[in-house]
Amino acid sequence: MGLVSGIDVVNECAARGLVAGAFNTTNIETTMGIVEAIERVGVPTFIQVAPTNVALSGYEYIYDMVSRRLAHTDVRVALHLDHGKTIASVEDALAAKFTSIMIDASEYSFDENIATSAHARRLCASEIALEAELGSIGGKEDEVGPDHADTTDPNQVAHFVDAVGCDMLAVSVGNAHGYVPNARIDFDLLDQVRHASPVPLVIHGGSGLPEEQLGRLHEFGVVKVNVASDLRNAMIRTFGEAYAANSNEVSLIRVSKDAVAAIADVVERRIRVFNPSVA
Ligand SMILES: [Zn+2]
Repeated sequence: MGLVSGIDVVNECAARGLVAGAFNTTNIETTMGIVEAIERVGVPTFIQVAPTNVALSGYEYIYDMVSRRLAHTDVRVALHLDHGKTIASVEDALAAKFTSIMIDASEYSFDENIATSAHARRLCASEIALEAELGSIGGKEDEVGPDHADTTDPNQVAHFVDAVGCDMLAVSVGNAHGYVPNARIDFDLLDQVRHASPVPLVIHGGSGLPEEQLGRLHEFGVVKVNVASDLRNAMIRTFGEAYAANSNEVSLIRVSKDAVAAIADVVERRIRVFNPSVA
């Protein structure tokens, strides 16, 4: 069916009681692995890319690659801008026909976060899903990330969501980007945030959290869980192992296909952990 709006992914997940994985791509191997897993499991999904990783190719390349691969897939998939930290990055992704956008102005003051996020909302047509972030998620993706985390204040949630008009809210409740030892969800805080929020929640840092915690998020108003590090590590590990086994290896196609298979297995496992109800 090709790409759909992020709104459609959120609505189908809400109707079916599902959590959408949001998997970061960088290149064709990662994209192929993600979609292979999506086709196996049949759960609506976000494929996303952050401006840091667009640097390899460009927004149009990413759109062409993902939409071409999805042309004959029956599962609803949206193409999402992850951590758009500037209005310019939002404009670039929209110009390239992305169907879902994250504006991340969480490093600014509360009022500036609202002003920047509301600006992004005005740029996004109503069928474009908008994710905004309140509180600051710790850890680092690539080399980017705040030095410290600020948890989301439940008392600010309703006003923020109303003022911005976002469709999803990324929250900081103990989750962290990348592999941060002892990253743990504070479910009491998540529950408070969930009851304060008129829109479903997004958890970043799906790679570093224990599976036992990831499997409970569907009970707490979470509609989207981001996973990046696990996929990147699967690809790098595959190439590293191939080289370690044979430093004269030259079959790029064989190692690339092994990387696709490794990424697909990681993605399938994550989707099943997020959705215990999926057989
Ligand atoms: Zn993130």
